[in-house]
Amino acid sequence: MSKEVPPGLLFVISSPSGAGKTTLARRLAADLNLRFSVSFTTRSPRSDEVDGRDYRFVGNERFDAMVAGGEFAEWAMVHGNRYGTSITAVEHTIESGTDCLFDIDFQGGRQIRRQWPQDSVLCFILPPSMAELERRLRARATDAPEVIARRLAMACQELEHYAEYDYLVVNDSLDRAYEEMRAIYVAARAMRKRREGVARALLAEAAGRRSPGA
Ligand code: ADP
Ligand code: 5GP
Repeated sequence: MSKEVPPGLLFVISSPSGAGKTTLARRLAADLNLRFSVSFTTRSPRSDEVDGRDYRFVGNERFDAMVAGGEFAEWAMVHGNRYGTSITAVEHTIESGTDCLFDIDFQGGRQIRRQWPQDSVLCFILPPSMAELERRLRARATDAPEVIARRLAMACQELEHYAEYDYLVVNDSLDRAYEEMRAIYVAARAMRKRREGVARALLAEAAGRRSPGA
């Protein structure tokens, strides 16, 4: 039976800062051995971040050159810094048929959806409450107080874009939210448009068995 490999899935995860998308995305990537798109950013690394693993940390000049060179599938200004997804990560996903996770904001999610509507699934992570969002941002203790204040102020603007997403996951209990997100990913892989190749191959095989001399 010949196999038609569908394009890889672009699994986009967004949320207001502190809702837990990085925690959930990293767990999904590790659990299912999924590729994770490492973004480029002009933001400075946090103390626990590693260049090439969490982000590719670049200066403004390099980022400008990459924009001019068409090296980004999407990029956006978020909380005063620029972040961009390498076009290579997206093209590799589409062409090789291997799925990839994207931890990007709503502007990036929108751009991915616009360019790859058939191959993207967009998942938005909601905090259980705004008070808990603030608690998590402070407890993470990776950002200066003024950065936390700016991220909290932006949270509402980000939440307003929930309707552009296919799925909403409330990250109350981490394990429960993780199981839900994992189920969404697994179900997305089995969508008809991604499995049609198998059905078509079966029909072709059946037709071959019916024809004389087959
Ligand atoms: P984001 O990537 O959305 O900014 P993070 O994944 O960095 O958020 O999570 C923010 C903080 O909240 C981290 O310290 C993380 O360990 C914590 N966290 C994530 N999910 C939960 C949860 N369900 N319950 C409690 N703390 C959580
Ligand atoms: P942080 O600074 O907390 O790592 O990320 C800030 C925000 O930028 C998050 O909402 C994150 O999802 C988003 N982000 C990270 N990488 C990209 C990217 O490549 N493109 C876009 N549009 N947003 C990104």
